[in-house]
Amino acid sequence: MLEKCVKAGLRMTNQRVSIATTLDESLDHPDADEIYRRAHKVDPTISIATVYRTLGIFEKAGLIQKVTVGDGRSHYEVARDDHEHLVDVENGQIHEFQSEQLQALLTNIADEMGFELTGHKLQVYGKKHGNVACRCIQIKVY
Ligand SMILES: [Zn+2]
Repeated sequence: MLEKCVKAGLRMTNQRVSIATTLDESLDHPDADEIYRRAHKVDPTISIATVYRTLGIFEKAGLIQKVTVGDGRSHYEVARDDHEHLVDVENGQIHEFQSEQLQALLTNIADEMGFELTGHKLQVYGKKHGNVACRCIQIKVY
């Protein structure tokens, strides 16, 4: 993340470094308040306004992505390979998954519309069938 920030030509103040590191170390999809709490612990000079401003800058530079899951808040994650989110409607957990079938389907749909697929983001909502183990590639909890 830090390297990418520098490559993107961003001026990296200590505060931005702390926020970028916080995002890098987050294994979940934190919202701005949570990012503020984590970054503020590392660098008490960071304000919530700084976090919002920095998230906007990182997002504009394509370094992070906003994740909306229907709770009215914006969550964030470091931009990386296409993956979808399955939101457990019972506890708000965000499960990540990838599917070749879905990729093929979306490629077809885009193709039929005269487009080349360059990316996608799908939000799926559901609840578990009882107490089964999760089969996603990574469980992320916000
Ligand atoms: Zn994700």
